Amino acid sequence: MSTQKLQDKIAVITGAASGIGKDIAKVYFDNGAKVVIADLNMEAASAAALQFDPNGERAMAVAMDVTDEAAVEAGIAAVVQRFGGVDILVSNAGIQIVGPVDSYEFSNWKKMLAIHLDGAFLTTRACLKLMYAQKRGGSVIYMGSVHSKEASVLKAPYVAAKHGLVGLCKVVAKEGAKHGVRANVICPGFVRTPLVEKQIPEQAKELGITEDEVVRNVMLKDTVDGEFTTVDDVAQTALFLASFPTNALTGQSIVVSHGWFMQ
Ligand code: NAD
Repeated sequence: MSTQKLQDKIAVITGAASGIGKDIAKVYFDNGAKVVIADLNMEAASAAALQFDPNGERAMAVAMDVTDEAAVEAGIAAVVQRFGGVDILVSNAGIQIVGPVDSYEFSNWKKMLAIHLDGAFLTTRACLKLMYAQKRGGSVIYMGSVHSKEASVLKAPYVAAKHGLVGLCKVVAKEGAKHGVRANVICPGFVRTPLVEKQIPEQAKELGITEDEVVRNVMLKDTVDGEFTTVDDVAQTALFLASFPTNALTGQSIVVSHGWFMQ
């Protein structure tokens, strides 16, 4: 079916064993792409690959800690060996560790920045080299957040890292342009994935309020309709960005948040 939006494109999605990344991988797969589910959790990554493609022809799992230079290089080399290159990178792997700045553990600060920023840099570098050499362009997508634009209490390293991704994206957009490589950031509002489910009781404890109050009065307070963003809302945006044909749409950050943040 040559009409599929990502026919024959090779897409690497980090953190794709769960949540948002998993849905992006599924939507890309359903639109004709060969998908690489790169994740720390190899068991869940393999299960996802098998779920999408029981024949194992267009989905592969790769064990990858995005903070580990050697693991990223080896993982991308495995993709090249299996599928022959990379056309789309979705740098999505992420975690959350909440806490107030005055008592935040330095080790947790470094862990947060390593996953969100080092991981984005290392995977971008490995994929850009291939995209430039392949001479058929490419699309790099960073999973930012409304926290790429806004701040919230208890989230200093997350907010700092997510803002940082916007800077990285703009540089990649400028450097990649002559190679037809575009770079953009998706900035979702709250999506009910394991990452967010874990935060609800943590924030309730830190802020001294109920879990229901965390959802209503913290997470969804500034949305236009009190609704969570869904994994599919984010995946459809990732499909649009990956399949956009020209450099006209590059260096941008797109907020998908039920109006929580308006540019
Ligand atoms: P999730 O916890 O469901 O999935 C995250 C995945 O990343 C997991 O499969 C985990 O194994 C993997 N991972 C963690 N550390 C890794 C590492 N070092 N190397 C490789 N893989 C690693 O989370 P999610 O909600 O789907 O979040 C995905 C991305 O979306 C994150 O970058 C997050 O910051 C961002 N985001 C989430 C929300 C939300 O509300 N859920 C909102 C905005 C942005």
